[in-house]
Amino acid sequence: MLIRRKPVILKFYYPYSITIHLNFAMGKTAVIIGAGPAGLTAAYELVKRTDIRPVIIELTNDIGGISKTIVHNGNRMDIGGHRFFSKSDIVMKWWQEILPVQGADSKDDLLTEITYRKKQTQVKLSPGGPDPEKTDRVMLIRSRLSRVFFLKKFFDYPITLNFKTLSNLGIIRIIKIFFTYIWVKIFPVRNVRSLEDFFTSRFGSELYKTFFRDYTEKVWGVPCREIAADWGAQRIKELSVSQALLHALRSIFRNESSIDQKNTVTSLIEKFMYPKLGPGQMWETVAGMIKERGGKIIMNSSVVVINTRGDQVTEIVYQDNTTGERTRISGEYFFSSMPVKDLVRAMGDKVPSSVRNVSEGLQYRDFITVGLLLNKLKIKNETRIPTLNDLVPDNWIYIQERDVKVGRMQIFNNWSPYLVADISKAWIGLEYFCNEGDQLWEMKDGDFINFAIRELDSIEVIDKEDVIDSVLIRMPKTYPAYFGTYSRFNVIREYTDTLENLFLIGRNGMHKYNNQDHSMLTAITAVNNIITGEKSKDNIWSINTEDDYQEEK
Ligand SMILES: Cc1cc2nc3c(=O)[nH]c(=O)nc-3n(C[C@H](O)[C@H](O)[C@H](O)COP(=O)(O)OP(=O)(O)OC[C@H]3O[C@@H](n4cnc5c(N)ncnc54)[C@H](O)[C@@H]3O)c2cc1C
Repeated sequence: MLIRRKPVILKFYYPYSITIHLNFAMGKTAVIIGAGPAGLTAAYELVKRTDIRPVIIELTNDIGGISKTIVHNGNRMDIGGHRFFSKSDIVMKWWQEILPVQGADSKDDLLTEITYRKKQTQVKLSPGGPDPEKTDRVMLIRSRLSRVFFLKKFFDYPITLNFKTLSNLGIIRIIKIFFTYIWVKIFPVRNVRSLEDFFTSRFGSELYKTFFRDYTEKVWGVPCREIAADWGAQRIKELSVSQALLHALRSIFRNESSIDQKNTVTSLIEKFMYPKLGPGQMWETVAGMIKERGGKIIMNSSVVVINTRGDQVTEIVYQDNTTGERTRISGEYFFSSMPVKDLVRAMGDKVPSSVRNVSEGLQYRDFITVGLLLNKLKIKNETRIPTLNDLVPDNWIYIQERDVKVGRMQIFNNWSPYLVADISKAWIGLEYFCNEGDQLWEMKDGDFINFAIRELDSIEVIDKEDVIDSVLIRMPKTYPAYFGTYSRFNVIREYTDTLENLFLIGRNGMHKYNNQDHSMLTAITAVNNIITGEKSKDNIWSINTEDDYQEEK
């Protein structure tokens, strides 16, 4: 058993206030940048499997990174709507070890059953599992429904070529879709370079223009022809028109009751796990466990300097965001889930200019969510799916309408009824994709909220008079972009890989479109490498490039 003594702390006040933690007489320390899924997974794995003590430095006052839960006047908001599912057994088990799967109905199942005489249970609940009506520490099993709102009508997502879709589209568009699809199958796009090429070669030009172009350009703010095809490949690999048709046929004959989704193409997954109180609950629980086992989490502090010697990172300096006080902390291992661009800047002049050039050219897409609490929605539940208060059953809706900037709308009631303080109200999130510093980003909160309400009112999704409460959240760097200097990212990777004790993990940490499970797997693999003495980082970089780790959103 390792005996840990308190570190000796020396304080200096020139050139800036700095505190040095001397870790001698202690075990090894891993300094982890970021308390998102990647950083917390790395820390949890270390406290569970090694004697290495993790110290996490987190920029904000929140646990969970992009996967945090915001609480506003008793209502909980998920930034983006986080499904918990993975093709990796390791991740699926990991999550359930922290929050066990429900063993009894949730609030809306109970109420729906009473109100609508629900005919069948859609998933087997875990026998002996916790009851969400009695405990918070529980993972719910939820059904996924997301549709596209376009021409003030609902379309299935993924787009299924059924009668409803065809009648919504009208005959002229259908003929165009049909012929452009046949055309691309006969004359395939030879060189699939851009996202436009990717979509067109998969779906034909008319289907691409109808359902993919506008939404994708809302997300990225640049034309699809300027985005690398990789993003599409990761997002909807394997999904094709023929598969969409097949899936529609199969689901008529099959009762889909399993959450084992290994053989399902990701875009078609129909069930997912979800913590009762939102994704942040998972990560707050993990943070508590890390602290219980001797790990440390330093909040509201930004890592600003990373010092290296030879092939080693020796220490980092972080700055308290409130006091400005700078603190130096040394360690044997360093994990970074902070944006690669900021990491390279923090490394200073030692970084070769070729690496700095690529890193300065990395781009990101930022995100604003407006939470609205409403008496009711204007759109009606015209499906046969029974819901509480007859709310539309979607978890989220893609807003394809061209006249508005809103990209997606989350309906938090349908993620977990426990996110909403008063279940008779509709609690929604309106998602806007933007760039830090642009017109949307700079708008005052009140003006933005009014603008968002007007948009939804104009497309007849809500009546503005029904809004009871609102909140606005800005999230920088939600999407690492696959344009800018991304195509030369290898230059950065080759440099950071030379630093033996530095592990780049996670989403912005690797500038990769990683979901929670991929972020976690990068962290787990990095810890495995430390334990086994594996020096190469190839196995970390290969996560989410293989078929098994595809993801969609
Ligand atoms: C709209 C949207 C929907 C999504 N839906 C899903 C989904 O359905 N399922 C799913 O699994 N995933 C989903 N994701 C992805 C998921 O949010 C991310 O994969 C996950 O949060 C990444 O974890 P991470 O730890 O790598 O990074 P992050 O969550 O970004 O965490 C990084 C942390 O580092 C901190 N940090 C940054 N800079 C510094 C610094 N200088 N010093 C100290 N700390 C710093 C940040 O504050 C942050 O807390 C979605 C993402 C978005 C944007």
